[in-house]
Amino acid sequence: MLVSSKELFQTAQKKGFAIPATNFVDALTAKVYTETAESCGLPLILAYAQSHEAYLSLEEAAWMGKHYAEKVNVPIVLHLDHGSDFQFIKRAIDLGFSSVMFDGSSLPFKENAQMTREVVDYAHAMGVVVEGEIGHVGSNDVSYEGKSNDRSYDTTLADAVNFVKETNVDSLAISIGTAHGKYTGEPRINFDRLHEISSDVTVPLVLHGGSSSGDQKLNRCATEGMSKINIFTDFIVSAHKKAQEKTQDYFELRHNLEEGLKQVLVHYYEVFETQPVQVKG
Ligand SMILES: [Zn+2]
Repeated sequence: MLVSSKELFQTAQKKGFAIPATNFVDALTAKVYTETAESCGLPLILAYAQSHEAYLSLEEAAWMGKHYAEKVNVPIVLHLDHGSDFQFIKRAIDLGFSSVMFDGSSLPFKENAQMTREVVDYAHAMGVVVEGEIGHVGSNDVSYEGKSNDRSYDTTLADAVNFVKETNVDSLAISIGTAHGKYTGEPRINFDRLHEISSDVTVPLVLHGGSSSGDQKLNRCATEGMSKINIFTDFIVSAHKKAQEKTQDYFELRHNLEEGLKQVLVHYYEVFETQPVQVKG
C-alpha cells in the first residue's frame, strides 16, 4: 500500500532500525523491490531519482510506482530522490508521490534553507513529506546517479540543527563519510558526528551512498541513528553480474536479473535490522 513515511520513520526511530530506499529505473526494478518487500513482510521506500529521467520519465515513474505500491500489502513510500528544481518537485507531488527530496546540498546554507523551505510549504499543504540535505554526499569515480567525482563534506552539528529549525523538513540527509557510486575500499564513517546529530536533531536522519559501505558499518548506522539508508549501485552491480551467467532465452535472463536484485534487498533488510510496521488507514 502507498503510504507516507511519517509512521514508518517514527517506528524506525523508536526501535532503532533503518528502512532501505531503493532506486527504481524501470518496471522490473520497481516490481522486484516491492514484491521482495511483500515477501519479507517489511516496509520500503521506493525511490525515483530525477537524474534517471533519461531512463524513465517522471510520469512513467509515478504510474509505475503507484501501481506496484498499491499492489502489495506492506507499506511502500513513493519517494522522489534528489529533486533539484521546484518545478520538477511540484510535478512529482501533483502526480502522487508521497514523499520528495529537495537536494540543495551543493548550494550555500542560506540558499539551500530558503529553497527547501519553499518546497516544504508547498508539499505540506498537499500532505506530502520532505527530505532535505545539509552537508554534501558527493560521488565516487564511478556513479550511477548523474554526476561523478564530486567531493563529500561532513555535516556539522550546528548546520543540522539550524537547517531543521529554518526549513521544517520531515527528514534530513546528512553527510558522515559516504559517497554515491562504487567505492574502491570502504568509506570512513564519522560515527561521533552521527551520535551528536541524532541526539540533538529530532527529525529522522537519512544516509545516502549506502552501497558497499561495509555491512558492519551500515548496521551501526541503522541501529545508531539513521532511519533511512539509500542503496542503488549494489542492486545494478548484482543484477548485471547475474546477467553474465549463461542463459537460454530472454526469460531466463530476466529471471537472473530479478534474482540479482532480490538478493541485495533481502541482504540489506538483515543488515539494517528492518522490522515490520503497521500503518493505520
Ligand atoms: Zn543520494
